[in-house]
Amino acid sequence: MTKNIPASIIALDGPAASGKTTLGRRLADTLGYLFFDTGVMYRAITWIALQHDMDLRDEATITALAQKAQIDIRPPSKNDGRGCDVLIGDKDVTWDMRGDDVDANVSVVSAYSGVRQALSEQQRRIGLRGKVVMVGRDIGTVVLPEADIKVYLDASAEERAKRRYNEVTARGDKADYDEILKKMIERDHVDSTRAVAPLRPAEDAVIINSDKIDADKVFESVLELCK
Ligand code: C5P
Repeated sequence: MTKNIPASIIALDGPAASGKTTLGRRLADTLGYLFFDTGVMYRAITWIALQHDMDLRDEATITALAQKAQIDIRPPSKNDGRGCDVLIGDKDVTWDMRGDDVDANVSVVSAYSGVRQALSEQQRRIGLRGKVVMVGRDIGTVVLPEADIKVYLDASAEERAKRRYNEVTARGDKADYDEILKKMIERDHVDSTRAVAPLRPAEDAVIINSDKIDADKVFESVLELCK
């Protein structure tokens, strides 16, 4: 990276609700880059499979779905906290995809190697165009190992569950903290122990634990790295 030219490919990884989306969106807005939350792709496949009563344990069927699904990701059309619009056909599924049923099943779907291959290829193609902040679990390790900046954002499960609880209740929905914590620990366990592209920091990632640092400080320090 040449001095004074901001990093062009920024990879942000970390467990659920670690603050990646908030940080990534803010960085992308500030730098004028594309913000790409790769989790929405895994969520969209899971949502379609659940809608069609597909057997989520049937790897071949779910892989075929991931290979042919038309997921459209567009800039946000509403100011309701969304980072982007996610459309399947004409249907806006941005919030449906954040439901408990998708949360509970997405890690099964994302562990399939064929699903990962289909989605990672699309993510990589978009990422290599540059001027992008890409958020996920395996961006620095697998999707874009050549990223200029790699950040692994971490926080304790309790802190992350608290943030998710506040997010859900702020939208006016009901939430149970203990249940959120339990499900989050389960999802992180599956994500970090799967055979293909498990959740882990890249060797050259900067690891930030945000338990005791507020979102503004995290943002400022990562922006500094990018510059
Ligand atoms: O980031 P988010 O919580 O929306 O991601 C949902 C799920 O998608 C994760 O729990 C993980 O199973 C999967 N995922 C992944 N690789 C990525 C992004 C998300 O496996 N790059």
